[in-house]
Amino acid sequence: MSEITHPTIKDGWFREISNMWPGQAMTLKVEKVLHHEKSKYQDVLVFKSTDYGHVLVLDNVIQCTERDEFSYQEMITHLAMNSHPNPKKVLVIGGGDGGVLREVVKHDCVEEAILCDIDEAVPRVSKQFLPEMASGLTHAKSTVHIGDGFKFLNDYKNSFDVIITDSSDPEGPAETLFQKPYFQLLHDALREGGVITTQGSENQWLHLSLITQLKKDCKEIFPVVEYAYTTIPTYPSGQIGFMVCCKDAGRDVKVPVRSWTAAEEDAKCRYYNAEIHKASFVLPNFARKALQ
Ligand code: SAM
Repeated sequence: MSEITHPTIKDGWFREISNMWPGQAMTLKVEKVLHHEKSKYQDVLVFKSTDYGHVLVLDNVIQCTERDEFSYQEMITHLAMNSHPNPKKVLVIGGGDGGVLREVVKHDCVEEAILCDIDEAVPRVSKQFLPEMASGLTHAKSTVHIGDGFKFLNDYKNSFDVIITDSSDPEGPAETLFQKPYFQLLHDALREGGVITTQGSENQWLHLSLITQLKKDCKEIFPVVEYAYTTIPTYPSGQIGFMVCCKDAGRDVKVPVRSWTAAEEDAKCRYYNAEIHKASFVLPNFARKALQ
């Protein structure tokens, strides 16, 4: 059988070139291309890297690698979940690899976790090549729905305690998930005291004006809006941020309202802990000034 080729892979290296991060590109050494298809919505590539395990790439942009995905999945999930006193019903928009669902169901209080991803190819391919992440998709409390997250949310009012938007970047099918009307839909789909986190917060080194605009938009909708970030080698410039918003004006999302014991934290998480929850909202001066 002939080897699968892909335009992003040259001389055995994958290169993540995009005008979303001009003049720089993450490169990963490829051991083997495992899968390539053009789905209805995007280019889907999975390769085995020499040092980061299996890597999922959508429209030429790295979505997750087996080696460092936990820092992103744990932080986007537990920042929201531990800012809510008793999250029972949780919605994930995007997140077709299953990693966020895997984290959501670590909270015993959760009764129902629904995921809505636009592209059936992502959960299908993840089940085959990223089984540890995809375990969240088949958990007894999980339901997976295939459809556009924006349209899906339109049908829900006052329904969820936590909503996590784990989308791809704003170029492509996720474009509407970065705009103000989407945040209004999120707000209206939350129950009283509900919390959201969203990946629509990109990177302080590259996207400060986008983050500033997004925070401004969120502030017009939610009484509490805070920006947090995590470190992760395979996202552009090694860092990605989250907008954390709450419907309850009196809630301080920078401090967990629930926490696990140290032993539980150790057993459940490889990145998140109650201290890093608080620290993730502390910004360097250049970003703090822009976001004030
Ligand atoms: N954490 C990753 C990152 O930041 O690169 C994102 C991972 S997750 C695989 C992103 C998912 O968002 C993809 O599976 C994609 O199909 C989904 N997605 C994109 N646009 C969407 C939309 N409008 N509605 C629902 N899901 C969407």
